[in-house]
Amino acid sequence: MNKYLKHDDWCIIEEGFKPENHKSSESIFSIGNGKLGQRANFEEQYSGDSLQGNYIAGIYYPDKTKVGWWKNGYPEYFAKVLNAPNWLGINIKINNSELDLAKCKNVSNFKRVLNMREGYLERTFTAELKNGNKVNVRAKRFLSIANDELGAIKYEISPVNFNGKISISPYINADVINEDSNYNEKFWIETNQGSKPGKAHITTKTKKLDFEVCTSMRYIIEKNKNQIENFTSEEKHTKFISQTIEINAKTNDIITCYKYASITTSENYSKNLLSTKAYKVLDYAIEKGFDKLLSEHSKAWKNKWKDCDIIIKGDKEAQQGIRFNIFQLDQTYTGKDERLNIGPKGFTGEKYGGSTYWDTEAYCIPFYLSTSEPYVAKNLLLYRYKQLSKAIENAEKLGFKNGAALYPMVTMNGEECHNEWEITFEEIHRNGAIAYAIYNYTEYTGDNNYVHEYGIEVLIAIARFWSQRFNFSETKQKYVMLGVTGPNEYENNVNNNWYTNYLAKWCLSYAIQIIEETKIANQDNYNRIIDKVNLLDEEIPFWNTIINNIYFPEDTEKNIFLQQDNFLDKEIIPVNLLNSSERPINQNWSWDRILRSCYIKQADVLQGLYFFEKDFNTDTIKSNFDFYEPLTVHESSLSPCIHSILASKLNYHDTAYELYLRTARLDLDDYNNEVAEGCHITSMAGTWMSFVQGFGGMRIKDKNLHFSPYIPDKWESYSFNVKYQGHHITLQVLKNEINISNYADKELELYIFDKKYTVLENNSISIEINN
Ligand code: BGC
Repeated sequence: MNKYLKHDDWCIIEEGFKPENHKSSESIFSIGNGKLGQRANFEEQYSGDSLQGNYIAGIYYPDKTKVGWWKNGYPEYFAKVLNAPNWLGINIKINNSELDLAKCKNVSNFKRVLNMREGYLERTFTAELKNGNKVNVRAKRFLSIANDELGAIKYEISPVNFNGKISISPYINADVINEDSNYNEKFWIETNQGSKPGKAHITTKTKKLDFEVCTSMRYIIEKNKNQIENFTSEEKHTKFISQTIEINAKTNDIITCYKYASITTSENYSKNLLSTKAYKVLDYAIEKGFDKLLSEHSKAWKNKWKDCDIIIKGDKEAQQGIRFNIFQLDQTYTGKDERLNIGPKGFTGEKYGGSTYWDTEAYCIPFYLSTSEPYVAKNLLLYRYKQLSKAIENAEKLGFKNGAALYPMVTMNGEECHNEWEITFEEIHRNGAIAYAIYNYTEYTGDNNYVHEYGIEVLIAIARFWSQRFNFSETKQKYVMLGVTGPNEYENNVNNNWYTNYLAKWCLSYAIQIIEETKIANQDNYNRIIDKVNLLDEEIPFWNTIINNIYFPEDTEKNIFLQQDNFLDKEIIPVNLLNSSERPINQNWSWDRILRSCYIKQADVLQGLYFFEKDFNTDTIKSNFDFYEPLTVHESSLSPCIHSILASKLNYHDTAYELYLRTARLDLDDYNNEVAEGCHITSMAGTWMSFVQGFGGMRIKDKNLHFSPYIPDKWESYSFNVKYQGHHITLQVLKNEINISNYADKELELYIFDKKYTVLENNSISIEINN
């Protein structure tokens, strides 16, 4: 835990420069626009500890896998989103000495601010160089969400105690590496570069997959608001162009460098047009100027906030936490492009390779469903739909047949990238999350077209996988599922993981339900799809036989489902009896000890009770929560949110709040001492869920919208926004009252504590509550 950031409603603020926090801040202050993203690296040279990171969504490299012991069925490569050419660099020399905060005599007034309301990053400081020269610096930058191929920087520098020479060198550096490269390889090859005074571009392609990217810059330098033309020199070599302007400055002069960058890729244009397109964006930027571009960008952010803001009164820390989570999610994914997805670290670091995990379906979909237009979540579903043939190939590689699909644990283009047998081959519950997301989307939006037209194919392929993955046990006279890893990766190769068995059963039933529904709703589609997937007459009856005969491990006396057949053979000692020096266990215990222990990394049985809450009574949920939560170490960022939602449901309000804070401020307060590697973007969607579904009690039941809100003791009030079937709703919760506003031109029907209310178009209602 490292709490060094100031609390504020709309900004993340770091005051004072502490090099030991710099890498963490680089993650936390990251900016992005759905297509481009970058860590909060300094513009000027910095020789201290830093992780340079610029990323372009969808531009990745299939790095040759490194494994200790090869197993048949492992993938050949691990995809990683590439560290992209650096466009933000502006080197500064003051009387020939490099401005480098790691080498200054003194750095004072340092302040870094991430303005979440308007979407920009700003940094101010005073630096005293070794030669005694002091400068004030103010640097502001953003990645435009109004034009997602554009980045802009305003870098101001002002001498404090000298008259002298300042040289400013804006550059593009495509000679970058990925810290996580398996063989220290560089992945970019230059294909073209060009420059004229005030502008330059470098086009690079990636090895193997030949993605081509043009990184271009234009800049303008001003002294006291007057443009300066004295271009001095240029340094050029492969993958690098830098231009230098020297200025004679006096104390208090303000030298400003406006640097604009445009990044265009072969994903969107033919390769021969990349630089032309990039310069077009830059010409537009120069014409508009920094302030207007920023106001376009901020306006777009303000519009986004209207749909997704959450306001908490009476707790700045919590307010800042929730906005940070929402801001990062909206910076990472905008839903404009169905080829893109959400890596667990988004654009804030290299870990997890920027690839897609089950996190998207299990955690992120609800956030985008409720805060964006339906196409945003739909594009996430289409991403998997388009990868169905690869998921079928993936299953075939493992020996499955007849169109069975196993979606990958980790992927970029549909192929499996993960290579640890206990996860690649065994953590198959991910397949169920993909089916569940289709269900979630359909229930929430009321749009059956997607499932009848596309989703159905995915559901059939997934059902086929489960039907082949179960086997009939003669001893138990039941269908069992052997050798799996549940969401709790702290035990592997277990038999009958309750969650996986339950999810598989549900997938089989849902596939049957959708096949029947499609037959009635759209006969043509039904015929086309049944023909396409060649659904055999015997398949559905076989699925039904399995559904009716699955084995579920449970302990009826304790009224709990067992995480797996032998869970109760373990030595059961609650986490709170562990010595704090042993936590986190994944950093202090041998893997062998962890695997044999009763400790749970993240929700497993409880993940199932969360997904399928309506199938179980509260007593059952309670006894499982009471048994499993005390054994859970929450060593996955995805863990606290699910527990917080269930705790809210069970009226364990203190636990819910405590777990909520842990997820909401996980990165800001660096609970796990690892934020330097990047932020936990996908678990931020879990934070949102624990707010809206936990405190707000939002559910869809029988296709109706329900809320059962309560307010944590510490807060005076809170409010959140959701979009629902053409409505935009704000729910405000005070100690004794709930206000519901309906901003649509049509009536809204909803249930509060299971009682039906109608809110007229563009109207509000108030309901009294006893908290
Ligand atoms: C979790 C997985 C998750 C992955 C990426 C792991 O630590 O156990 O459930 O998919 O991180 O977030």
